[in-house]
Amino acid sequence: MQFDEIIKDTNYSDSNKPNLLDYKKQYENFDWYRDAFSKLDWLPDGGLNNAYECVDRHVKNGFGDKLALVWLGKNGEEENYTYKDFKDQSDKFGQVMINLGMEKGDRVFIFMDRLPELYFAAMGILKAGGVIAPLFSAFGPDPVKDRMLDAGAAYLVTSPDLRKKISPIIKDIKTLKEIIVVNKDNRFEDPLVDNDLDYEALMKDVNAESFKLVNTSQYDFSIMHYTSGSTGKPKGVLHRHQAVVQQMLTGHWALELSHGDIYFCTADPGWVTGTSYGMIAPWTNGVTQIIYEGGFSASSWYEIIQKYKVDVWYTAPTAIRLLMRSGEEVVNRYDLTSLKFIGSVGEPLNPEAVVWGERNYKLPIHDNWWQTETGAIMCANYSSTNIKPGSMGRPFPGITMGILDDQYNEIENEDSGILAVRPGWPSQMFAYWKQDDMHNSRFKKGWYITGDQASRDKEGYFWFQGRADDVINTAGHLVGPFEVESALIEHPAVAEAGVIGKPDPIAMEIVKAFVTLNPDYEQTDELRRELIRFSREKLSAGVAPREIDFLETMPKTRSGKIMRRLLKARELGEPEGDISTLEDD
Ligand code: AMP
Repeated sequence: MQFDEIIKDTNYSDSNKPNLLDYKKQYENFDWYRDAFSKLDWLPDGGLNNAYECVDRHVKNGFGDKLALVWLGKNGEEENYTYKDFKDQSDKFGQVMINLGMEKGDRVFIFMDRLPELYFAAMGILKAGGVIAPLFSAFGPDPVKDRMLDAGAAYLVTSPDLRKKISPIIKDIKTLKEIIVVNKDNRFEDPLVDNDLDYEALMKDVNAESFKLVNTSQYDFSIMHYTSGSTGKPKGVLHRHQAVVQQMLTGHWALELSHGDIYFCTADPGWVTGTSYGMIAPWTNGVTQIIYEGGFSASSWYEIIQKYKVDVWYTAPTAIRLLMRSGEEVVNRYDLTSLKFIGSVGEPLNPEAVVWGERNYKLPIHDNWWQTETGAIMCANYSSTNIKPGSMGRPFPGITMGILDDQYNEIENEDSGILAVRPGWPSQMFAYWKQDDMHNSRFKKGWYITGDQASRDKEGYFWFQGRADDVINTAGHLVGPFEVESALIEHPAVAEAGVIGKPDPIAMEIVKAFVTLNPDYEQTDELRRELIRFSREKLSAGVAPREIDFLETMPKTRSGKIMRRLLKARELGEPEGDISTLEDD
């Protein structure tokens, strides 16, 4: 069946009313159990499973013929999968994993582009009790190795090109039992290396009917995402099946997703937005999701919205700024009137973007705030409430947010301070993988400390002010300076490296590195290019520095820590602040 035929039967959206009708009243009377937990089906014996709620229950409830996934390949392909197809494919992959000996809680890394098989695998792993750990396909060998080693990866699902890219590090992952390779439409010759397993062959050997969903509880682990801090390597943020409760309801109330809607989320599953709102929220809400394999392109995105009559579009500020740059004239070539809601997350959304959206899409862009650790939207501009351009909106019902001073006491006025949340929300991270001290350090005086600075106005709207740490936000992607510094100093020319975020009009920040050189190396443009190339290969183009400056000496504290704050102040021509701990030259 073609998309058009299916869509005619299955467009259930019949209400023009916002899903969250009365913010104030619903915030005040909210009850997680009545308003959210009870809206899911749950497993017959009281368990909870994300994939069951996303896929199986819609088939059980008579929506099996409804379209769950429309895949648009980068070579112009289109594939349509109903919820029944999705159930069969994910059941089969669940059976594959059971046959391979996967046990409850095993970490399964998924390192591939946005192919339908990525989603079948993810749902299958969840149904079979595994924990999915998706990675950006742009990553080079180093970030993949760090993450798989840290998590004790048991399985890897990947594609032939990416498998080959990381071949040199595979032998270091001693916990790895099997590599499953998806060679979509035989795109690659010689897809398998060593003892790799072929996805298609494995899927042929199993049937969906014989699969029995593993009984997971709401407290079992489901998804792990790596996120960067200012020190140390990225940390594995561990989530539990319980998170689905908040992802489902925020999808419905904060993103306006309803049964039968057509939804387009531009986030990759390597980032938490690509799992919470690129898998769980949309499918628990019974929508038809468009998965586009390609990257940013104004005309392709508009074409998708026009052709598939997208109702809800969730994207990010860097993309919106790029769309603004591509111009109004491009927008005007397309009919985007199907859109009923546009959401944005990941970085501050500048007020001009909200206004531009209103003029060009005839809809405001709704900013919302959350992070990997929170697992779901915490604060949002809702469809039914006034947008204050530049603000992240107000806390989601059931969520209490506060602004704290440096002693972790709540500030009642409009001053800026530490953005904090009262713990206990359903999608709260359970742990940083094997880093209990780090996890515990995020909780102070009964608050979860987000790592952001913000303020709250008299009407309860929150305004982002900046990060409280050195973490860089480039195009919505958090980059830990330590990870980049570690890669740079692996180059024989580099003695020391300090990395900062440099403000940028499109990407918000770009990664900029300062390096001192070992004796016998000269500060040349050629070396600069070589270092950029070196770190791109190791990390990825998005994480590697875009600019590198050579220094004679690195500013450090007397205890030997690189003073990134000082590097940044000097770069921006700002006052150097307190430099009493600066090491003498
Ligand atoms: P991540 O965990 O990678 O999703 O990044 C979360 C961080 O991105 C937050 O702690 C903020 O620093 C930033 N962020 C996310 N959403 C927003 C927003 N709406 N406005 C400003 N910053 C945001």
